[in-house]
Amino acid sequence: MSTKSSTTSTFIRRESEARSYCRGFDAVFSSAQGAEMTDTSGRTYIDFLAGCSSLNYGHNDPDMKAALIDHISADGITHGLDMYTDAKGAFIGAFETHILKPRQMDHKLMFVGPTGANAVEAAMKLARKATGRTNVIAFTNGFHGVTQGALAATGNGYHRGGAGTSLNNVTRMPYDGYMGDALDTADLLETMLNDASSGMDAPAAILLETVQGEGGLNDASPEWIARIASLAADHGALLIVDDIQAGCGRTGTFFSFDEMGINPDIVTMAKSVSGFGLPMGLVLVKPEHDVMGPAEHNGTFRGNTHAFVTARVAIEKFWSDDALQNDISRRADLIADALETIAELIPGAYLKGRGMMRGVDVGSGELAGEICAHSFQNGLIVETSGPNDEVVKILAPLTTPDALLKKGLNILIDAAQSVTVNTKIAAE
Ligand SMILES: *Cc1c(COP(=O)(O)O)cnc(C)c1O
Repeated sequence: MSTKSSTTSTFIRRESEARSYCRGFDAVFSSAQGAEMTDTSGRTYIDFLAGCSSLNYGHNDPDMKAALIDHISADGITHGLDMYTDAKGAFIGAFETHILKPRQMDHKLMFVGPTGANAVEAAMKLARKATGRTNVIAFTNGFHGVTQGALAATGNGYHRGGAGTSLNNVTRMPYDGYMGDALDTADLLETMLNDASSGMDAPAAILLETVQGEGGLNDASPEWIARIASLAADHGALLIVDDIQAGCGRTGTFFSFDEMGINPDIVTMAKSVSGFGLPMGLVLVKPEHDVMGPAEHNGTFRGNTHAFVTARVAIEKFWSDDALQNDISRRADLIADALETIAELIPGAYLKGRGMMRGVDVGSGELAGEICAHSFQNGLIVETSGPNDEVVKILAPLTTPDALLKKGLNILIDAAQSVTVNTKIAAE
């Protein structure tokens, strides 16, 4: 214990107060494999955070690792600006063959700086340039990153407060379900878009997540999403789906909007697109909206060649057949069953999300935090989300073996049981 605190003291002494996830997990991690992380004292934890969905295929996938080691050993390109490289070409080819063509998507691939926020910035700029309009419609509890343009579209007041300046040119509208069952928020948007005196400027884009990752795992119905898509089309606005967290299989299919009958004008990707946890940002844009001139949206790290190597392996290994998709569907059921058990322990608790992007709203951030802290003591890394951190959120790697998944879920159930028992004792 004392050696542990002496190592974490380095971080506490010198790392900025802006550090965040580390505060909930008092360990120094040194290795990881699959769905497990090991700390410097040799203790192994099951990872239900998975880099916040950046590690959908787990840590250090052996095939991606081998391809990357081969690439480095052969003095393959590490940094090539956005020049043509064999690694980039192979990734584009795999993405075209296994992702775009089967979906009849004719989108171009725009490589941007290696973060999700940069992909969102590029998407918003594309939509504004393509339409000549400035207003972007974004939704309550949406999270799109924290650079200034993306932050304007993000709902969370804490993050917005960090801007230190006004965040403009975004109109906030209620997401599906925000007003309960009484009001279909697509009706409200339609009425306002159709009313020249509603005060809403004609939008360049409507920007949405199909499942709101940071916003508390709110999932919009396919019908609502299809209506928003047709409203965008009717009003000359581009539909941007931010699939940074919900994409790459997290909700059960490669894109979170697969099988919804929509074809977004722009899709943003980051987090798990490299497959290996390497930074990579990608914008998919329909050719008619591919309006940025050469280097107009610039970036020194557009295209991380190491990420291209692992991203290609990820696509070929996991998305050339249905095997992973079937695994996700079975594992999603295991997760839902465990979360039902937890929900039954806590009055008013209910399930949220879709596929392997699931959680349970336990009603308070304090209780959710206690469940996560208790889980960590017992060897499980799991985090909260939502406006008040009231949702215990499971983002286990999609590849987590069923037995390990069940082990992690049992730790979570135990944590919920002991935390609720303690609460009951305290109340008596
Ligand atoms: C994480 C996230 C972002 C921002 O990505 P960064 O890489 O952290 O900049 C944007 N949109 C969604 C939906 C996200 O989950």
